Amino acid sequence: MVKFAMNLVLEKYKDSGFKMTPQRLAILEYLEGNTEHPSAEEIYRSVIRKFPTMSFATVYNTLEMLVSRGRVMELSIDAGKKRFDPDMVPHHHLICRRCRCIEDVFEDFSIDVSSGTKRNFEVTGHHIAFYGFCPSCQDKNDKG
Ligand SMILES: [Zn+2]
Ligand SMILES: [Zn+2]
Repeated sequence: MVKFAMNLVLEKYKDSGFKMTPQRLAILEYLEGNTEHPSAEEIYRSVIRKFPTMSFATVYNTLEMLVSRGRVMELSIDAGKKRFDPDMVPHHHLICRRCRCIEDVFEDFSIDVSSGTKRNFEVTGHHIAFYGFCPSCQDKNDKG
C-alpha cells in the first residue's frame, strides 16, 4: 500500500522540475489520497516519525511550494490554522464547529453570479463552506 502511494507520487512529479528529496517524498506520500485536510502541524508530526531530524520549517516550506505550484490546496476555512487539501478537483466542504473535522462535498452547486456582483472580477471558481456539527459531535451535544 505504501509502496503503491510512493510510485504514484513519483510518477506524478516526474516531469514537474520538482526536486524530489526523501523528506519531500514523505510529505507527498502522507498527503496522497489523504482526505483529513491536515494542518502543517499534523503533517509534521506524522513525517518526523520517519525523519526525526526534519524541521517544521522544511515541512512548511514544502507545503508553500506545493501550494504555489498548484499541487495542493490551502484552506483558510479553519480560523485556528491553515489546512491542506491534496485533492485539486474543485469541491466544497462540511466543517464541524466543535472538533474542526472537514469533509469533502463533491456536488456541483451551480451559482449564478450577476455581473453587478462580480464587479469586473473574472470568476474562475467558488467554494462553499458548510458549518455545523459532525455526527459524533451531535451525540456529544445531546449528552450536554
Ligand atoms: Zn465534530
Ligand atoms: Zn477537501
